[in-house]
Amino acid sequence: MADIAVIGGGAAGAAAFGELLARFDAGTIHWIVGRQAPGRGVAYATRDDRHLLNVRASGMGVFQEQGEDFIQHASRQLGLVKGTDFLPRRVFGDFIQAQVGARIDAARRAGRSFRIYPENALEVMRRGEGGYAVRTGDRWLDVEHVVLAVGALAQRPLRTVSASALASGAYELDPWRLDRHVKAPRRVLVIGTGLTAVDTLLSASVQWPHAELVAVSRHGLWPFTHSALPLSPYPHQETLNQSLLACGGVASMLRKVRKALDEAPGIDWRSIIDGMRPINALLWQELTHRQRRQFLRHARWIWESSRHRMAPASCQAIHQLQEEGRLQVQAARVLEVDGSSPLQVTLRERATQLVSTLEADLVVQATGLDTAVAYGEHDLLSQLLRDGLAVADPLQLGVLAQPNGRLLDATGTPQRGLYAIGSLLRGNLWECTAMPEIRIAAHRLAVQLAEASSIRRPHDVASEVREADPHG
Ligand SMILES: Cc1cc2nc3c(=O)[nH]c(=O)nc-3n(C[C@H](O)[C@H](O)[C@H](O)COP(=O)(O)OP(=O)(O)OC[C@H]3O[C@@H](n4cnc5c(N)ncnc54)[C@H](O)[C@@H]3O)c2cc1C
Repeated sequence: MADIAVIGGGAAGAAAFGELLARFDAGTIHWIVGRQAPGRGVAYATRDDRHLLNVRASGMGVFQEQGEDFIQHASRQLGLVKGTDFLPRRVFGDFIQAQVGARIDAARRAGRSFRIYPENALEVMRRGEGGYAVRTGDRWLDVEHVVLAVGALAQRPLRTVSASALASGAYELDPWRLDRHVKAPRRVLVIGTGLTAVDTLLSASVQWPHAELVAVSRHGLWPFTHSALPLSPYPHQETLNQSLLACGGVASMLRKVRKALDEAPGIDWRSIIDGMRPINALLWQELTHRQRRQFLRHARWIWESSRHRMAPASCQAIHQLQEEGRLQVQAARVLEVDGSSPLQVTLRERATQLVSTLEADLVVQATGLDTAVAYGEHDLLSQLLRDGLAVADPLQLGVLAQPNGRLLDATGTPQRGLYAIGSLLRGNLWECTAMPEIRIAAHRLAVQLAEASSIRRPHDVASEVREADPHG
């Protein structure tokens, strides 16, 4: 039997599992979800409704063909919702679970074979006769294909954090676990000013209304903000995109984007950045290793702030905290975090190069996605690297793979039946971590695997779900 294992219980795993349930009937689909609630992963497990999606409701979805759209689902929970709204991420987590639940019901009715395991996959070995053996606990599963949807790595402490600071319990590596700090801190220092830092500060401001909040990052730059309403597209986007694809270098790409902005003063810069989204993976693939490194070193910070923008309501809440004097932001490098209670945080200010030390009762590391698999402590990924079934991207952006997600082995050969989806593919695709891209990738992969297993098609459970769902 051509069984499949999907490893990872986040949104990408849910998308891959649901797409496979709808079209793969050559064997059993094993979904190994880890110990958290399946489908939500890191982004959609939050229960704090101040944590908003950074994509408008109309742009969010989990499958290519859904039983109902996200706006309909959210309207049932929240009242009237517009496609242009930025909704709480919790609601999208509920939506994923409902959509996967509908596919599971339909798969049961269709007699499809699947199993869900609330545990981690610990090892993946290549079998001599082809296919893979996947270990979860004491059990080995023999499968033809493996889809790795394990997300980014758990954060590693910055090198500047001392062992005593880490042991003190006052240095938090998981920004989504503020709830485990029961004693109200007088000052909370958040390292990072990206989207995760914004959410962390909004939660901290409510959890500890009297705490002073400080956010520190090298540039001290918040993500830019989405416009309240969608922007008109830049009329010459296609020409611009063609010329960007012909550029062959980061500096000349940036010059072209700047020129386009100068020549179209009435156009909002955000529509030009958004209009590049369909070609971002291609642009990235055109760059040489050296050019990618240059981009990461010199342009990434401004690209990330411009491309991954925050919802207008999040921006307003952050500005209000700043205006009330409760939140300060500093452009500085963290030189050291030491001590215990309180922690001593030594900073070098970007503008003046002055070094100073701040005391904080709680320091939260919110420094963004870590995909440096060669350095992370992820049992499964470490084993895959050790056994030559995966190779770390040289710029620490996940693993080496083809654009369709097929992993390369230590000899650079694409491996039959071993795929990844989501942030592990940043080295190849760059733009692959958000739902719009994950959703397309999951659909393509499921179609490809279903076809590869030469299965009876198109008996499509998705259509049954639509028929069965009264809201569809
Ligand atoms: C805070 C935040 C907000 C975001 N907001 C948006 C947004 O508004 N819109 C958008 O489109 N995108 C957003 N994103 C991007 C987001 O990354 C994707 O939307 C999506 O959630 C990625 O899901 P994932 O499954 O790839 O990763 P994850 O959410 O990290 O899920 C991976 C899962 O795999 C599990 N796992 C790991 N190893 C194993 C193993 N060995 N065995 C079994 N399970 C394992 C992990 O425990 C985890 O549950 C956001 C990301 C973050 C972090």
